Formats: sequence, C-alpha cells, structure tokens
Amino acid sequence: MKYETIIGLETHVELKTATKCFCSCPAEFGGEPNTHTCPTCTGMPGALPVLNKKVVEFAIKTGLALNCEIQRYNRFDRKNYFYPDLPKGYQISQLFLPICRGGYVDIEVDGTVKRIGITRIHIEEDAGKLVHSGASISDSDFSVVDYNRSSVPLIEIVSEPDLRSPQEARVFMEKLRSILEYIGVSDCKMQEGSLRCDANVSIRPPEQKEFGARSEIKNLNSFRSVQRGIEYEEARQAAVLDEGGRVVQETRTWDEERGVTHSMRSKEEAHDYRYFPDPDLVPFVAEAEWVAKIAETMPELPDARKERLTGRLGLSAYDASGVIARLATADYFDEAMKHTGDAKSVANWILGDISAWLNGNNLEMRDFPIPAENVAAMINLVNKGVLSSKLAKTVFEEMLKSGKAPAEIVREKGLEQISDAGALALAVEKIITANPKSAEDYKAGKDKALGFLVGQVMKETKGRANPEMINKLLREKLS
Ligand SMILES: [Zn+2]
Repeated sequence: MKYETIIGLETHVELKTATKCFCSCPAEFGGEPNTHTCPTCTGMPGALPVLNKKVVEFAIKTGLALNCEIQRYNRFDRKNYFYPDLPKGYQISQLFLPICRGGYVDIEVDGTVKRIGITRIHIEEDAGKLVHSGASISDSDFSVVDYNRSSVPLIEIVSEPDLRSPQEARVFMEKLRSILEYIGVSDCKMQEGSLRCDANVSIRPPEQKEFGARSEIKNLNSFRSVQRGIEYEEARQAAVLDEGGRVVQETRTWDEERGVTHSMRSKEEAHDYRYFPDPDLVPFVAEAEWVAKIAETMPELPDARKERLTGRLGLSAYDASGVIARLATADYFDEAMKHTGDAKSVANWILGDISAWLNGNNLEMRDFPIPAENVAAMINLVNKGVLSSKLAKTVFEEMLKSGKAPAEIVREKGLEQISDAGALALAVEKIITANPKSAEDYKAGKDKALGFLVGQVMKETKGRANPEMINKLLREKLS
C-alpha cells in the first residue's frame, strides 16, 4: 500500500558566540578535554549562571530571519534528567516561553516552492560529551567525559509537521544552513556537531486524516543521514502496517554505517523531565527597541540574493541556486563581479572547474586559493579575445600552482590568442599545402574535413589561434 509520510524536524544549532551560555568559558570547538570549563558549566554546587546577552541576540536574529514573532517575556526552565554528560542533573532550556514562535521557511523542491512552518525556537545549553573506550557504549570497558562542550549555547528550531518526503527534509535542512550561515549565528559545521537534527516521522494511508504513531530519529548529523534515516524509517513503518502490525511511538537512533535505525526507548518508558522555572535565572524582556535594532543588522538573505542574481544579473534559477547555497560561494561570486560584468561566466567557473577542484581536494570555498579578482581578470581576457577559452584552463591551473595574476601568466607562457589575420593566413596556407587530400575532400563537399584542418592549424599555433578566424580563413581559401 502507498502511504503519505509526515515529517517534522527539530534542528539543534550551536551558536557562534565567543563564550558559553551562562559563564565566560570559551565556547569554541575542541581543545584539550576539560580545559574550557569552570564551576558554573560543570555544575558545582553554589555556582550561579549569568545569561550571555549575545545568545539572546543570536536567537532573536534567527527568529527574524525565519519570519517568527519574537516573544517579549522570556524565562528559562530546568529540564531534569540524570546522565554523566550533564553534571548539574538538569539542562537549562525554555519550555513554556520560547523566544520565537510562528515563523516559516520557503523551500524549493523540483521547481516548486513550498512553505514550511516554524513552530518555535528556544534557547538551551548543550551537554558534555562521553568518549567511550570501545567502538560503542555496549562494547566499552569504560567511558570518560569531556565537559568542554557543556553549556555551549544552542537554539532548537522546531518545524511544523509540514514536510512530506525525505528529500523535502534534506532541502529544508540545507536551506536552514544557508540562512544561519548568512546571518552569522553559527558556523554550521555538521561534522563538528554544530548543526544536527532529530526527525519525527510517521506515515498514514492517503485517505486518513489523523497522523499515525511517530518515531523520533535522534542525532542526524549530515544531510545524507537526514535523507537516508527518514527513507529507512518510512519503509520500516510501511512494512509494519502492511503486515497488519501497529507502529509504536518510540525514540530511535540512526546507524550511519549499517544504514538502519534502532529502537532506543518506547513511549511507555519515556522520560518525565519534571520541567520547572529556573530559580537562578531571572525572567528577561526582549524590548521591542532592541529587537528593531537587531533587525537593522540583518544582511541580505539567501532568497533575496537569489532574486538579485536571477533578476538584474540575468542568471538562470539553477545557476543562482548553486551560487547562493553557501555564503562563502555567494561572497566569492559578488567579489568577482566587482571586476567583471560577465555573471554567467563567473557562475560557470564557480559551479564548474572551481567546484570540481574543491571537491577533488576535499576543501571548501573559504579555502580556495585563487582570489576572485584573478578569476574575473581571466574571464575578461577571454572576453577580449586575448585568451582562448581552451587556454583559459591552462591559466586556471597555473594560477592554482603559482598564484600569479592571469595577465602575467599569459605573458610569461606566451598564451596570447593569435588574432592577427596576416599571421593566421600564413598558418592556414601552410596547413592546406601540407594536407592536400583534406583540402580536396572539403572542396568535394565533405564538411568533416574542415574540422580536421582547423585542428591542424590549432596544433600548428599551439592552441593560440582564434578558432573563429581560422574557420573563416579556411572557408575563404578553399571556396
Ligand atoms: Zn564555564
């Protein structure tokens, strides 16, 4: 039977603040274990938390970027549970009064724009990290704890159950990453856990109104695992229903290596977190004036950037989407455009040779060694006819090697395109004399022979001849 899949995502975002949520320890990733810690973030008795204002500012900025209403009255709650990664015995979070409510994100899947609701965004602190002696907790002799991450600020973005396919869920996550990168609240490094999500997945027969029982897949920490984890889960639930069984509400984990989800706990043994307001942190008010000030700092967001690229600059929607997806790439494009008027060529180089080189070297755009200005200068040399598009690839490779400017490379390597009619005529003459058979073939109506002769002239001029001019000259001589 065919079922409809209902998906809601809870996305956890580590904020890029200098210090932690409630103390002045550095919030940066890594470091020797337990060196970014103090009595507050390790939950020593008597230590008091002090709220980092930047955390609230970043949460508000995210809410504005996701079209949410910013809540004026705010409070923190204690979410109580016992686990070694949480030395206080509770996590500071917002249950009753989240800072943002009721927003949306527009995603585009297969050319169709779809609006996904945002239920709420709340602030919370991260927990520490358990490091097991073995491959997993079940085959380890012991585990140690690193509290460097303990109390690093997080926001949790909760979506409405508006997503209908694993692909939509993946595109939604990619869109969130773009927006979060653009507004600068997180480095969004999924491999370091600064962007990760839990997916609530259920299925229902198409005619059924109410949602089916859902499973929550925990800790999906790559776009690939978001899509694969949900794909696995929708197939698993469909198999249960097809066999006449009942899907039970439960929490499951995704095993990336084996490509399956495992049950962690069912609803019956679900935790009761006994939430209550945190008495150590006073409620705070997000004044309208402050929210307005934060709104003024909002940069151009991905959708607006895409419109600018497709509108005034005339890029196709496909090219524009490729360019704007990551902030570093979009900025590289804009920087190049300061030095050339040829948007299409800049996009082609970025999405073609530059992306291929980055992928091949497992690097990101921010690591790309050629300044955008030099790529633009290379494009200008091609457009002016100084450099052939074929030899532009040689210049590109030389820029990667030596870091020199394109004009310098063209000069040093003698790559200038030959557009001098006299010089080209001599070369054409020479090739015709050397290949009388091909010349006769062309005269006899075999058009293929012309391509061969053009190729010979290109070879004779070491690829520097202007191909259009050779074509014209050959046709004239052989007519
Ligand atoms: Zn601390």
